[in-house]
Amino acid sequence: MSTEQVETKQFQAETRKVLDIVINSLYTERDIFVRELVSNAADALEKYRHLSLVEKPEFDAHVPLEIVIDCEEKKHVLTISDTGIGMTREELETNLGTIAHSGSGRFLEELAEAAKKDVNLIGQFGVGFYSAFMAAKKVRVQTRSWDGSEGHEWCSDGSGTYTIKPCEGLHRGTKIILELKDDAHEYATKFTIERIIKQYSTFVPFPVKVEGKTVNTVQAIWTRSKSEITDEEYTEFYKFVGNAVDEPLYRLHFSADAPLAINALLYVPRENIETLGMGRMPSGVNLYCQRVLIDQHSENILPEWLRFVKGVVDSEDLPLNISRQSLQDNALVMKLRKVITKRFIKFLAEEAGRDKEKYQQFWKTFGIFIKEGVTTDFEFQKDLGKLLRFESSAADPGELISLDEYIGRMKEGQDKIYYINGPSRQAIEQGPYVELFKKREIEILYTLEPIDDFVLNHLGTYEEKKLVSADRADLSLPEAADKDEGGSEEQGEKLPADKVAELCGFFKEILGDRVKEVKASDRLVDSPAMIVNVDSYMTSSMERIMQAQGGEGELAMAGKKDLEINPASPLMKKIIEVKDKKRDFAADVANQVFDNAMIQAGLLVDSQQMVSRSYRILEQISQEK
Ligand code: ADP
Ligand code: MG
Repeated sequence: MSTEQVETKQFQAETRKVLDIVINSLYTERDIFVRELVSNAADALEKYRHLSLVEKPEFDAHVPLEIVIDCEEKKHVLTISDTGIGMTREELETNLGTIAHSGSGRFLEELAEAAKKDVNLIGQFGVGFYSAFMAAKKVRVQTRSWDGSEGHEWCSDGSGTYTIKPCEGLHRGTKIILELKDDAHEYATKFTIERIIKQYSTFVPFPVKVEGKTVNTVQAIWTRSKSEITDEEYTEFYKFVGNAVDEPLYRLHFSADAPLAINALLYVPRENIETLGMGRMPSGVNLYCQRVLIDQHSENILPEWLRFVKGVVDSEDLPLNISRQSLQDNALVMKLRKVITKRFIKFLAEEAGRDKEKYQQFWKTFGIFIKEGVTTDFEFQKDLGKLLRFESSAADPGELISLDEYIGRMKEGQDKIYYINGPSRQAIEQGPYVELFKKREIEILYTLEPIDDFVLNHLGTYEEKKLVSADRADLSLPEAADKDEGGSEEQGEKLPADKVAELCGFFKEILGDRVKEVKASDRLVDSPAMIVNVDSYMTSSMERIMQAQGGEGELAMAGKKDLEINPASPLMKKIIEVKDKKRDFAADVANQVFDNAMIQAGLLVDSQQMVSRSYRILEQISQEK
């Protein structure tokens, strides 16, 4: 072979760093590199099996689907071969020279962190192949694509570069040849390899042969009857299918014959890896038809917001030779999706009833996905309502309740579900919005995430009860049942109507465009004033979300707001007294009242202006004394 055919290439910068992390910080639990390479081999075989049903390739069609492992104990060489789809030259370069999802800037830091904490996490980062360098000083990959094009050899010692050259005499598939490091010679022994395969790769659905002997049990666990499967087997399968190390939080195994033949085995993990800086995770459920993998990480079989679920769905009703592209708008797939999703939601609701604490753990980790479902998926939105959980005025701090529990406790005459958003329970309880709720003993949900109002707004109603935010301008609460005569419910003596009108006029004049209307409140008990939303889209919480994303520049983006003032508040009585005599001072106080109300609504105010104004107010007061 002429030397021009050997090309030396640089790894992509990220890849070099990944290699660095993998080689230098991962000394423990080196075994996992075998799992990673075997799982890559199994993936390649699955891809070929499906492809052969769709495309009917001719090249090497007779070669059996299997994984063969050879141990050259004396030479310290381990070889893992598969007869899967193989790779073309271009595929070798992109697949083994670059990293697919390194887009996010935090990716590498998080990987390094994860590597320190738990080596097993690296499989989740999709950098499995590089783990070969944990044990090998040199890795050669000989591969030939299923299309029969020329074979190639890729070779690297894990430092900055790799070479690619043509390689003759290869069959379809990939052979990974590892020259082991001096301290890793054990990986060329049959004993060690068999042990690792038994531990990690029992469920690989192809024969794994070590020195000619098949060492794994080839079984599709999900097609067996529930009563025959042990918890250990279930957990082992979860680890296999989810590339996981822990135990699953939930497991649902169900079969149906009508309206569709379905075998599904679904798991909920314990961790949300999207919080590890991984960006959006791919779907974790594989779609099978009669035990043949049709779509790995299928985006069609469950809605996107269920992407944290791991497992398999198998249906005999799907045509075996369906192509991956046509899955998306296949009516049968859509039907399957609906049936399985509804079943899964029902399962979660049942689990929530069975073990509240465990469900809280689920909710803390994956609630965000359920919320995503409510806001993005009209099809299942109403079903998802029963999975939502919030803090509540009627529950202990930290305890979460469902909308059903809320409805169960609703007062006579109450036909709405009330909620209020705020940064913390304490902030909400000290704020103006819950005053009348407290007084009339009406339960109110506390939504502590800015996104929550958006979610409840999207949901609109639950069990035919309207969901209403307590900062709405048009809020009307049911009367207290044991209300005293003569409206003495509100605190203190109110200003007379003409004075109230005068005061509202004064506030509006001073505040101008900052506010749509100024009205007397019939809800406030102690607070002098509060902001309420007229606009049902650009609400205070929506603004908070926008502000969090856009910073101070978003001050101008405000929805229409009213200011409600409390006609019984001593401060209001004072303002009416001084507003003509000390107009500038009264104007400052009015502006300050407004800013305070804005802050209590969680909205931004111009802090510079506010500081100089409050000094003016303080000076004025101290002069009076
Ligand atoms: P992942 O498996 O998560 O995609 P890896 O680092 O394990 O990440 O592998 C990178 C890519 O290299 C794979 O996606 C696949 O395209 C390719 N690859 C690795 N091993 C094989 C193999 N044995 N046969 C064919 N392609 C392979
Ligand atoms: Mg892999």
